[in-house]
Amino acid sequence: MNDLSKARQPRAVDRIDTRPPAPASATSRAAGAPGGGPQLFEKRKAVHPQKIDGRFRRFKWLMMLITLGIYYATPWIRWDRGPYAPDQAVLIDLAHRRFYMFGIEIWPHEFYFVAGLLVMAGIGLFLVTSAVGRAWCGYSCPQTVWTDLFQHVDRFVDGDRNAQMRLAKAPWGPKKIAKRSLKWTIYLVIAFWTGGAWIMYFADAPTLVRDFWSGEAAASAYITVAILTATTFTLGGFMREQVCIYMCPWPRIQSAMMDEKSLTVTYKDWRGEPRASLKKSQAKPDLFGACIDCNQCVSVCPTGIDIREGPQVGCITCGLCIDACDRVMDEVGRPRGLIDYATLEDCDREKTGAAARPPWKALLRPRTAVYFLAWGGIGSGLLFALGTRSHLDISVAQDRNPPFMLMSDGSVRNAYTIKLRNMESRPRAMRIALEGLPSATMWTDEIGREDAARALTRTIPADRAQPLRVYVIAPPETREQDFAFSVTSLDEQAEADSSQARFNAPED
Ligand code: SF4
Ligand code: SF4
Repeated sequence: MNDLSKARQPRAVDRIDTRPPAPASATSRAAGAPGGGPQLFEKRKAVHPQKIDGRFRRFKWLMMLITLGIYYATPWIRWDRGPYAPDQAVLIDLAHRRFYMFGIEIWPHEFYFVAGLLVMAGIGLFLVTSAVGRAWCGYSCPQTVWTDLFQHVDRFVDGDRNAQMRLAKAPWGPKKIAKRSLKWTIYLVIAFWTGGAWIMYFADAPTLVRDFWSGEAAASAYITVAILTATTFTLGGFMREQVCIYMCPWPRIQSAMMDEKSLTVTYKDWRGEPRASLKKSQAKPDLFGACIDCNQCVSVCPTGIDIREGPQVGCITCGLCIDACDRVMDEVGRPRGLIDYATLEDCDREKTGAAARPPWKALLRPRTAVYFLAWGGIGSGLLFALGTRSHLDISVAQDRNPPFMLMSDGSVRNAYTIKLRNMESRPRAMRIALEGLPSATMWTDEIGREDAARALTRTIPADRAQPLRVYVIAPPETREQDFAFSVTSLDEQAEADSSQARFNAPED
């Protein structure tokens, strides 16, 4: 039996709620197909998680506040870069091919910084998964955060779990229509703001908002908002745990990255089994375990699974079942931790009667250290590269056809297109000079051959890359050889760069 099919097995009966609990695991029996053959898919059963309070719930609140706060507020943060650059702190400027992030500006030729950040994000996920299992899924994945938000909207409009289930079963009438209309309107507003916030990362936020509402924004802005509104509304409002269980590849990848030393949410069956109602277990304490089969851990689960069935792909390790079970254990006067974060290794130790290790000890082991060192090494390398990078750049492209021109006086001319890049947010005067190629001089379309020299000065506008057509001329006896164009900023930084080039000449 695989993990998914395990999640579908009915086990627990809700003995605290007097109304039918209908947890997803109890309602998802695969039925036969109409023709009597096997059913290839299962009808989705709605999950109505019960409200719970506790340390993991409060941590989820905090994560929701931080992640949504960052997402919605970041485009509105201003960052002064002077008069020649945008003042939005985080901006993906597709038109000018720039990525701004506070004091950092990434140019297209520096894409390796973005690649480095992506590699760091990947290694960071490996690190988190090997240490604390699917913590990303449980607390900070956008699907989790928005689903959690929408589930709070459900509670705000419909009430808690039992009220939601009653309303779901109730026939359509004025009350149900009014509640559904209100709830879906709130979903839609959240979804719209989610899509709206996304496009603000790609343009000046205040200007874009004005243009958007006056109908002057680009069509792509309206299309993007419409698509993201629809996906947020659907994935967060309706598909919810199905995205995690059926659509997302990450749970499968994570399963491969976890081992017996990874922390994960675990039901300690050696403590809990055989389970029995409180009354029964109090009457015969020697015969039964600590689990009173109250089903609270299932009722609060946002994916509707029963963690007592063992680790399963539907568990996003959000810890809410820990909060629920700890509360039950407090109420019945039994030790907390029947469901807890634990490693498989620690579970095996505890089964033999050894004392439980503090969970943080699972974080310190060679595998997490290797991931952390790799992550930190790449991060340090990127920071070093950022701190030492030059803010000017020169690149040279030589005319290939013709490779050279023989002038009437026997001298030889080669033509080049130089690209000068000023990465500062102010205009900069630069001196371009020839290195090597003795007796050669150069001129441009602007200054003419009569003013040809071995160096020339050019002012490059702020934050721009400018092409420059350069003609290099050398005396008749000059042979083919390498030389370089160098550029030096004529300011106190005196930054310099150079680019190799080839001078072509007739063979003997
Ligand atoms: S594990 Fe805890 S919350 Fe779940 S049914 Fe048993 S006692 Fe209740
Ligand atoms: S089983 Fe527990 S940890 Fe896993 S998703 Fe459900 S509530 Fe969260």
